[in-house]
Amino acid sequence: MSVLVTGIGELVTNDPTLGDGPLGLLRGAAVVVDNGVVAWVGPAGRAPDADARVDVGGRAVVPGFVDSHAHLVFAGDRAAEFEARMSGARYDGGGIGTTVAATRSASDDELRGRLRALVAEMRAQGTTTVEVKSGYGLSVEDEERCLRLAAEVTPETTFLGAHVVPPEYAATPDEYVSLVTGPMLAACAPHARWIDVFCEPASAHAFDGEQARAVLEAGRAAGLDLRVHANQLSAGPGVRLAVELGAASADHCTHLTAENVDALAGGTTVATLLPGVEFSTRSPYPDARRLLDAGVTVALATDCNPGSCFTTSMSFCIAVAVREMRMTPAEALWAATAGGAVALRRTDVGRLAPGARADLAVLDAPSHLHLAYRPGVPLVRALDLPGVPDPVSPSGGT
Ligand SMILES: [Zn+2]
Repeated sequence: MSVLVTGIGELVTNDPTLGDGPLGLLRGAAVVVDNGVVAWVGPAGRAPDADARVDVGGRAVVPGFVDSHAHLVFAGDRAAEFEARMSGARYDGGGIGTTVAATRSASDDELRGRLRALVAEMRAQGTTTVEVKSGYGLSVEDEERCLRLAAEVTPETTFLGAHVVPPEYAATPDEYVSLVTGPMLAACAPHARWIDVFCEPASAHAFDGEQARAVLEAGRAAGLDLRVHANQLSAGPGVRLAVELGAASADHCTHLTAENVDALAGGTTVATLLPGVEFSTRSPYPDARRLLDAGVTVALATDCNPGSCFTTSMSFCIAVAVREMRMTPAEALWAATAGGAVALRRTDVGRLAPGARADLAVLDAPSHLHLAYRPGVPLVRALDLPGVPDPVSPSGGT
């Protein structure tokens, strides 16, 4: 079934060959979708016929957001920890243990219900691709369970057994790394596309460079591609390791040396910035300008998780990136769409050009500038099209 989406006041294609500037902007545009794939993009007056027609009434349309970093399989609530932090307590990653205990004692249906509600919340705010990590089970059985549930809502599943050292291994962290790289990896790899590690020597709960290297190399040997929680709390070895091992993405990048910036600029690893975390932990933001000016590919993602940043809103992250990190509105939107796609090594999302998935997000506004110009206002949603199933509806998904 084909659908003509017309009346698009401003269309962001992220394809410079289709329109103006790096966002490939077109005004007065239309898009034809055929069986869930973009078949044609151009001026509304020249649009071909289709089986059905949707008129968006002059609104702006952008590619659906690609949220390339999220932790959505968990139980429990950490609002009290947030309150304590806002009253002066420092964030060090230690509160993750609270979520681990709640997640282990939750049923599959409880975890599934929360996960689906969060993905639906994302879609209602324009996010059409989401990566989901494990990392709150931290036992063979619970990590496998979390990934099995994540795979019900997205193909972008990430094994994060090396999120923190669980309390039962606090005195023997290297034994825990052996568990992660051995039986836990074997159980989880069939449900995961990616492996990730929280590489942060500055946290007593996370993993140092050698432990992180062991996790990533074992994951790669098991057929998984690599991503790294890198340089969040200190200029540690995470970014260096991510670039050396060819990881798709180094996430956080809050504390970088000049050598780190050069390595990112010279490699294929995306710097994924998660400014919602700095916002929610009241920490200094990453230096996005330094990365962009050095030619590094930058992505923006939510890092949605119950501890350090419990937002599902990519438009909030765009607004923070523009206001606090001096990204231009165009750079921030590109990073939240095309940048996220590069961070997931996907060419079928993050752009609206023939051959891409028909992931359209529509704004109740005439221009993409309103995403940052009107912070906190729910302007953007994924556009439901006739004949294109919602990927997380109860009957949908794989
Ligand atoms: Zn994270």
